[in-house]
Amino acid sequence: MAHTLVVANWKMNPADAASAAQIAQGIVRRAKGRARIVICPPFIYMSVVAKAIGRSKHVFLGAQDAFAGKGAAHTGEVDVGMVKHAGAKYVIVGHSERRAAGETDETVREKLFAVLKAGVTAILCIGEKERDLHGGYFSDIKRELEHAVRGLPKKFLPKLVVAYEPVWAIGASSAMQSADVHETAIFIRRVANDIFGKTAAEKIRILYGGSVTKQNARDIVEQGNVDGLLVGRESLKANEFAELVNELGK
Ligand code: PEP
Repeated sequence: MAHTLVVANWKMNPADAASAAQIAQGIVRRAKGRARIVICPPFIYMSVVAKAIGRSKHVFLGAQDAFAGKGAAHTGEVDVGMVKHAGAKYVIVGHSERRAAGETDETVREKLFAVLKAGVTAILCIGEKERDLHGGYFSDIKRELEHAVRGLPKKFLPKLVVAYEPVWAIGASSAMQSADVHETAIFIRRVANDIFGKTAAEKIRILYGGSVTKQNARDIVEQGNVDGLLVGRESLKANEFAELVNELGK
């Protein structure tokens, strides 16, 4: 894979547009360009972040979600056409916090298709809520992936990124061990191979997300054998986040 991908999920942060611009400018200035960065701010800050990114060759704009319904009578929603016009090249789909707020596997599938059909790269989040002793978490991961991509033509796979985010490791005090990340990445790759065939499935990039810091980022990417990371809290501190990204590919 050409570039390690690091996705910054700002969630419902920061408190105002000036801070959003400042964080984005700091990231653009300090990240050295070894990895490809995607900043996903709240919708309301997308234009100021797009401006801060400017014509950067290694930092890109993303959205945290996109509505998949037809027509315009959807108060409060924002669709993929709108985020694309705002400059988004990536959209996160099915984050566990949105699933917890009511998104079903079917909603996630509809959003995934809408994003990919619009020619935008989709970052599909999957991951178990907990790790049981008997490996039952593998069936949760399999179900989420199989449901989301059911009927998806292979031509979309170069624009599909799967972010493996064990829900219990998000916002936690430590990340998953890199050996476990590796095992799960192999499993996800195997499920994708079974659906699409090995050659096509190789085009899918796999990320890890959940309590990534500048201390563990490199180990997770190298020993976990993933194509990049999805970062929450640490992506709101421009200095720390740039250091985290600069750790990769050293
Ligand atoms: C996330 O929100 O997807 C995430 C990984 O958050 P954090 O890095 O804070 O655990």
